[in-house]
Amino acid sequence: MANGSLLHRVLLQNEKPLTRPPGPLYVTAMPNAQNHDRSTAPDRIDPDNKTPGEVYLCQVSPTVSCGACCGLYNVQNPSRETMTRMLEDRTSRFAKVPRTIEAIDHFAGDAFFRVEGQKQPVKDFHHCPFLGLIGPGNHTVGCLLHPLGEGNAGVDWRGLSYYGSFACATYFCPTCHELAPRYKRLIRKAADHWYDYGLMITETDLMGTFLAQVEDRMGRRVDDRDLEQRPEAVTRIREFLAIKTVWPFRDPAQPRLTHFFFHKKAHQPPAIGLQCPEAEASPWAPVLTALWSVIPSPAILSEAESLLNRMADGLAMALK
Ligand code: SF4
Ligand code: SF4
Repeated sequence: MANGSLLHRVLLQNEKPLTRPPGPLYVTAMPNAQNHDRSTAPDRIDPDNKTPGEVYLCQVSPTVSCGACCGLYNVQNPSRETMTRMLEDRTSRFAKVPRTIEAIDHFAGDAFFRVEGQKQPVKDFHHCPFLGLIGPGNHTVGCLLHPLGEGNAGVDWRGLSYYGSFACATYFCPTCHELAPRYKRLIRKAADHWYDYGLMITETDLMGTFLAQVEDRMGRRVDDRDLEQRPEAVTRIREFLAIKTVWPFRDPAQPRLTHFFFHKKAHQPPAIGLQCPEAEASPWAPVLTALWSVIPSPAILSEAESLLNRMADGLAMALK
């Protein structure tokens, strides 16, 4: 898979693509994601200490987690309902799979056919067929091959995945490195569902711009402690996290929700000022761009800015 080689290079920032592990010895010898444990909730260990950027974002709570870097949303129909059904179905089918290389390979092939046989929004972005639902009651998205996964008996089967166990265990998305820790803590604390959270948590520019606007209005910095005793603020942040699915200015010709964040140039949204140069100078330009907006005129720009201003005003008020 040529595209896979490219992605491996991007992921690992290394010119050598990963090779598929040769057998079970390699599988069991894989490092165990000590610092990037997508099956362990933060209350069981303190993963913040082991995460670049101080804030662990992958498995957050019994209902909030992320699988965006595993290509979660890169499917033809990424609606909440369709994806939930897909993950439920996959999880129940994987529960019956014997833990052998042959059986897991067969499962992957079947899942590839179900998802990757379709037209995907970003052709260079692999959707891992081992994403499923994990945790108490299966309410969070996570890795079915993880050694702590149900039925895996401590064996790390991620070596059988397309990315390979090393990438799975060590990769951290740009948000971990680039977004201010206080913003990450705020989002992590307010989020209540894996779907909206995973759609947004990789959108570093979008989140950073919006929360900086909120701070400007307040004249001070915000942090997760501001959410204590402020349920209205929590609600406002959750509305913000859902913005991708309700944004009225999204380009209908490119209704893409998945975010390809591995490369600064490939598969990025078009420049926001192509039709309306004034949009380039908008304080909301990074948000408008990340939302794949179509801004054909100054009047539409004004409408879009008004909507974002109202959202920022509302959150700033709720945090006061
Ligand atoms: S995209 Fe980021 S937050 Fe999400 S699972 Fe990957 S590293 Fe964790
Ligand atoms: S095998 Fe790797 S890419 Fe697939 S779900 Fe698990 S962590 Fe993600």
